[in-house]
Amino acid sequence: MSDDGVLVIEGCAVAAVDAAGTEHRSGHVVVRGNLIEALGAGAAPEIVGATRIDGRGCLLTPGLVNTHHHLYQWVTRGLAADATLFEWLTTLYPVWAGIDEDALRVAATGALASLARTGCTTSTDHHYVFPREGGDLLGAEIDAAARVGLRFHPTRGSMDLGHSAGGLPPDSVVENLDDILRASADAVSRWHDRSFDSMLRIGLAPCSPFSVSADLLRESAFLARELGVRMHTHVAETLDEHQYCLDTHGCTPAEYLEKLGWVGPDVWWAHAIHLDDSAIDTMARTLTGVAHCPTSNGRLGAGIARVTDLLAAGVRVGLGVDGAASNESSSLIEEPRNALLFARLRGGPRALSVRTALELATIGGARVLGRENEIGSLEPGKLADLALWRLDGPAHAGIEDPVAALILGSAPPLAALVVNGRIVVRDGEIRTIDEDEVGRQVARAQASLVAKAR
Ligand SMILES: [Zn+2]
Repeated sequence: MSDDGVLVIEGCAVAAVDAAGTEHRSGHVVVRGNLIEALGAGAAPEIVGATRIDGRGCLLTPGLVNTHHHLYQWVTRGLAADATLFEWLTTLYPVWAGIDEDALRVAATGALASLARTGCTTSTDHHYVFPREGGDLLGAEIDAAARVGLRFHPTRGSMDLGHSAGGLPPDSVVENLDDILRASADAVSRWHDRSFDSMLRIGLAPCSPFSVSADLLRESAFLARELGVRMHTHVAETLDEHQYCLDTHGCTPAEYLEKLGWVGPDVWWAHAIHLDDSAIDTMARTLTGVAHCPTSNGRLGAGIARVTDLLAAGVRVGLGVDGAASNESSSLIEEPRNALLFARLRGGPRALSVRTALELATIGGARVLGRENEIGSLEPGKLADLALWRLDGPAHAGIEDPVAALILGSAPPLAALVVNGRIVVRDGEIRTIDEDEVGRQVARAQASLVAKAR
């Protein structure tokens, strides 16, 4: 399709995930260029020259938004498979210390392809490992996202608290404060695109309370606000971290982050599991967002986030797969399902509905990234980021409610994934890259990284 071409999808069930909860048993969408022009029930109008997709047997939803990831971990999966977070980190840091721009380009391509195949149209990344000889790491993953064709919100992450200074990471993978701030400002001026249909926005993201100094958190917040970009970090992921903050700072992780300016509408926290009521009040009052990552939290046995309480308090909640080293599948469509299951295990059968789970994966994520006016729901005038799920195969045929089939059934194949008006996936195949070749490159990069660490 050309830049201003027209794409029509029709005959499909539609879940718009708009404020009115609009759904159609059989409906259509018209995309012109990169915008949704029309959405409605029944067949689409005749439009000469339009590309038409027959959506019968499918459900059309907004593309999913992934609010937390570490793409580089796609080449370090399956290590420390039965470990706690701190054990897992200390096993993996020496492997991650070998990351360079070639390995990251391959890892990001593989991880983003997996996201695309599971309905993701917008992904963040939190990259915080910058070995001295690593090259242009952020540039490599930005190239990968452009190649795969996803909307991308990478963050310039950082660590400055090495082992010798009382932190968890080895000294070889931490940077000094001045270098981090300079590189962060450079990344924003080089890549951050503020336009309505931006495919690329940068955020700043010191890694976590146990791998960065208070100075780095404070200075990064100041710089992010001066530059007008968003802020992201890991908070309250495990009880070990909770205890570390009590021992080291005399307060909870949430209190520590608030003291350093890390709350506000421009901030989102990854995980936010071990929160007391006052932390939830703080997040609601300051409009701080959350990337909820249920699969990773389960993989590491970190705990179950208080999602129902967060939503009841009015906190913005999106979903994330988290890094592939703690979620080997990185399948975004499984996150709303796991969010629902975890919430119900914690709070009973009414703790999270199937439609709220779909909201978290779409408009919820868009709100967390400050892009709710552009993406996250199907509405005329919004950007054309769409997922068309095939629900007439043997795994889903006959499930009464298509939204329940999507959220509660097994992960369905995609009939199509459209990002910014462009078809990225068609009939389950990614059109933009050769996935088999990427798979071979991933295996080689993984073997070489593990060998380097031994
Ligand atoms: Zn993470």
